[in-house]
Amino acid sequence: MAQSHWDVVIAGGGLGGATLGRALAMHGARVLIVEHELAFKDRVRGEGMLPWGVAEARALGIDALMRDSGACEVRWWKRYLNGTARDTRDLIATTPTNNGCFNFYHPSMQQTLLDAARDAGAEVRRGVTVVGLETGDAPALVIHTENGDERLRAKLVVGADGRRSVMRRLARFTPNQDASRLIIAGVLHEDLDTPDDTVQYFQQPSIARSALIFPLGERRYRSYFIYGAGTRDHPLSGSHNAQTFIDLSVETGVPREWYADARTTGPLAAYPGADCWVEHPYRDGVALIGDAAATSDPSFGCGLALTLRDVRVLRDCLLSNDDWHAAADDYARQHDVYYASLHRIEDWLTQLMYETGPLADSRRARVFPHLAKEPQRVPDLQGRGPDNPTDEHARRRFFAEDIATV
Ligand SMILES: Cc1cc2nc3c(=O)[nH]c(=O)nc-3n(C[C@H](O)[C@H](O)[C@H](O)COP(=O)(O)OP(=O)(O)OC[C@H]3O[C@@H](n4cnc5c(N)ncnc54)[C@H](O)[C@@H]3O)c2cc1C
Repeated sequence: MAQSHWDVVIAGGGLGGATLGRALAMHGARVLIVEHELAFKDRVRGEGMLPWGVAEARALGIDALMRDSGACEVRWWKRYLNGTARDTRDLIATTPTNNGCFNFYHPSMQQTLLDAARDAGAEVRRGVTVVGLETGDAPALVIHTENGDERLRAKLVVGADGRRSVMRRLARFTPNQDASRLIIAGVLHEDLDTPDDTVQYFQQPSIARSALIFPLGERRYRSYFIYGAGTRDHPLSGSHNAQTFIDLSVETGVPREWYADARTTGPLAAYPGADCWVEHPYRDGVALIGDAAATSDPSFGCGLALTLRDVRVLRDCLLSNDDWHAAADDYARQHDVYYASLHRIEDWLTQLMYETGPLADSRRARVFPHLAKEPQRVPDLQGRGPDNPTDEHARRRFFAEDIATV
């Protein structure tokens, strides 16, 4: 079997793998990225990166590149409750790092960042599949190519191969999986009659539904419809459901006239929203990043930001410690803390905004007025993500349990 030696071999050339490859190659590491796909297509993935992720992009030095490659910074975040406009947030003025969302078409941004990794000196091999892994002090990835299998030995192997990670299994991590509470369906629309500078978020908690529209620029929009698991017989996927997707969005509050000239121009796919994660995403020479380490529920739109947080933290650990085993261990320790914090916030939001039934309704009736009066009770998911306090005190404030009921 052919064999080669690298500092880092990265399985997966998504936003996580490509950005890490670029960052390490820029500092002189010999990096190889192996990517299964020969050409990127619409997989219905994240296209709205929250402001705390934009801050990570800036720390990684890719924000200008992303802007130049079509990411548009969206300033306004508008919320509707049960069909009535609730508030409009100026993200640039109110987030700690003064960023809007970065919205972009995922397949072209994947290509941009993979090209950038190559420009920085990383080698990129496409159309190859990971088929084996040897863990230990000198780990190796085994890939299948048209010329036979190859062993790629490295100081560190990174699994950046997404939500259905093969690397997670090959490295014998034990995944944890939340119960399925939400389903998220997404589709690409063109020519919606809605402003280009605003993310639109429609929520109908009593029936566990939300609709979200992220403008991507050039009259394109990624539309999501989120619904309670078990509330539909069949998943909302496949082109035959395109009109049902629109009808359900309208029932959830999106004005029907926005769709007058709309065209559906990408696949309609539905995914379970449940988190899947590993504790301590480093062992025996193999680190996991991005969705491979922790797939956070896409209903809350934090996956891209979390992926770039992983890249930035792993990069900083590796660049500040020659002992890469200790450095990757340090990354995994930090990951446990910030991912757990994000997971708690998403759990609270799921309980408050998607649980149904009389108890859930009466909790909302009690809690909503307090949150409206003191919005700082709600963790700032867009601006601060996992850096919000998430201890018991924060939980009680969110659910207004610190206020006596009479
Ligand atoms: C419906 C939906 C909506 C979402 N919406 C949002 C949102 O609005 N905002 C947000 O921030 N996040 C969102 N996300 C999450 C976001 O898309 C992910 O968190 C992000 O793409 C993870 O990046 P990644 O690089 O870890 O993985 P991926 O983007 O999945 O990239 C993994 C790469 O690895 C390659 N690969 C896989 N297996 C192999 C193999 N065996 N060998 C070689 N290559 C392999 C794949 O081809 C792919 O290119 C959404 C996700 C879904 C499913």
